[in-house]
Amino acid sequence: MSVLEIKNLHVNVETDQGTREILRGVDLVIREGEIHAIMGPNGSGKSTLAYTIAGHPKYTVVGGEILLDGEDVLEMSVDERARAGLFLAMQYPVEIPGVTVTNFLRTAKTAIDGEAPAIRGWSKEVSESMKALRMDPAFAARNVNEGFSGGEKKRNEILQLELLKPKFAVLDETDSGLDVDALKIVSEGVNRAKANTGLGILLITHYTRILRYIKPDFVHVFVAGRIAEQGGSELADRLEDEGYDRYLADAPVS
Ligand code: ADP
Ligand code: MG
Ligand code: MG
Repeated sequence: MSVLEIKNLHVNVETDQGTREILRGVDLVIREGEIHAIMGPNGSGKSTLAYTIAGHPKYTVVGGEILLDGEDVLEMSVDERARAGLFLAMQYPVEIPGVTVTNFLRTAKTAIDGEAPAIRGWSKEVSESMKALRMDPAFAARNVNEGFSGGEKKRNEILQLELLKPKFAVLDETDSGLDVDALKIVSEGVNRAKANTGLGILLITHYTRILRYIKPDFVHVFVAGRIAEQGGSELADRLEDEGYDRYLADAPVS
């Protein structure tokens, strides 16, 4: 049984104005097959948490731990984290000029598995996943995210998720900018990945809308760099009605 543990995590970011403390003691345990939703206002540090798990160099961990099955994630390079089974779908997926979707997927798969996938089976898997995500087969030959619409970029993130088969995925606002049809397709992809591989999911979102399609086991309210409250899916319903005001009243002014 795989488990991702975040313990009393404190993270700073270096800005032009100096050092800023963004995460102020985050505690979170995600087990295999669990879906945890993190909801919170803009600027509360949700993406910072996602980037810190993935190992982005801009974010400095000044306290606490991240453990994957007991192994110290903070000691791992970005590549080692991916090989260990961590995956980040970014809020703003980046363009990779000169690298096609096909080549990117194959290179990433090879790096993660330590050997190239067998061509036949792999090509079939790629085209089936693209079909399930209603992606035009022509996308396979296009450069990653270059000229993709917002919705196409998000689908491409889920394509990677389905094919790379991580243990834990952080999905950072994968729902933002999607129309209802795209939201359903993306959600089905996430649910398939969970059903097929027992994926554990940290689903960062601004809105409760996606939680109609991806049912969270736990909901965490994230305010001013820490978890202010946690509960089950009923907490998401309450946030929809009440917003974040009552948490913000208690938050320190930064
Ligand atoms: P959220 O994803 O919840 O909207 P972020 O993690 O993106 O929040 O940002 C949290 C705070 O940290 C914001 O005030 C943001 O401006 C600041 N911040 C995050 N990353 C950086 C960075 N690379 N440089 C400067 N400030 C940053
Ligand atoms: Mg934001
Ligand atoms: Mg964000």
